[in-house]
Amino acid sequence: MSLGEIAERCYNMTTSYLKVSTSSIIIKETQDAVRLTRQHLLEEVFTRWSPLNGEISFSYNGGKDCQVLLLLYLSCLWEFFIIQAERSQYDFKYQKFPMNNLFSVYIDLAKTFPTLENFVNLTSERYQLSLYSSMREHGTKASNMSCAFGDFLKRYPETQAILIGVRATDPFGDTLMAIQKTDSNWPDFYRVQPILHWKLANIWSFLLYSDEPICGLYGNGFTSIGGIDTTIPNPYLIDSKDNRSKLSLEFQWEIDNAFERGNDKINVLEVDPDDQLWLKKLGSEKYLPGWYLINDEIERAGRIKK
Ligand code: ATP
Repeated sequence: MSLGEIAERCYNMTTSYLKVSTSSIIIKETQDAVRLTRQHLLEEVFTRWSPLNGEISFSYNGGKDCQVLLLLYLSCLWEFFIIQAERSQYDFKYQKFPMNNLFSVYIDLAKTFPTLENFVNLTSERYQLSLYSSMREHGTKASNMSCAFGDFLKRYPETQAILIGVRATDPFGDTLMAIQKTDSNWPDFYRVQPILHWKLANIWSFLLYSDEPICGLYGNGFTSIGGIDTTIPNPYLIDSKDNRSKLSLEFQWEIDNAFERGNDKINVLEVDPDDQLWLKKLGSEKYLPGWYLINDEIERAGRIKK
């Protein structure tokens, strides 16, 4: 798929999600969250920086939050294109989507899961990301976040704003603003954070409905993914009698009615064999999929400190 084709798919998927008529409170709240993010991108971000010339970049690590933001961003890119095309003197059929790739940056600090790395590679292709990473650029991992962003900006000095999929419920997330400058001890750019208001339940609802590929770790009890030495599956999702009595699947409708689904399977990818081994060594417990958890307060219970 070209960037135009995947952007159009994301636009159609998002429009379809917004049209869902339902009594589900989660879907209604997610529809509001989608509207707010789209409005923010189209009216505040794209009017300030052009999405077409490298002024805006995307901070992408394959996590579920930045994937959701990416789907929304692509849907807005398509809408931006339609609006521009309608203003043109030429008929729509003669208009070409004006971009081939999306500038993006992956900070490869910690040793991470092969499953996540495979997912980053696969989705980079699917979403036509032109993905900068220290490893790809210099052959070594980044030493810290701030230096890595500094290196990225040296390589792409036209960058003004970077989109980040942080949410208010993330650590230190409650003080963030939708658009803010980086702190003075950081490389200079605007942090654009259009999904601060999204809750965990909104993320799962939209992602499961989208039928876009889901990273295999989320299918195996992970709810938030950091480095391999600091992340385990979420203990609240151990498939025990006790946990099952406390958890229920809130997204059956999204799974059954996923957008343009050709089969009846959730589009969750395989876990890499190395990670399967690692999971076996961790213990014999089985885990429910990440989307059984909707409590934001324990979303990061699998992110451990060493
Ligand atoms: P999850 O919490 O399930 O791992 P996520 O990675 O998308 O999902 P966070 O870990 O909370 O969410 O990170 C917030 C955002 O910060 C990401 O969505 C992404 O935009 C940015 N980010 C975090 N780590 C990196 C990284 N290593 N490289 C690039 N961007 C990153």
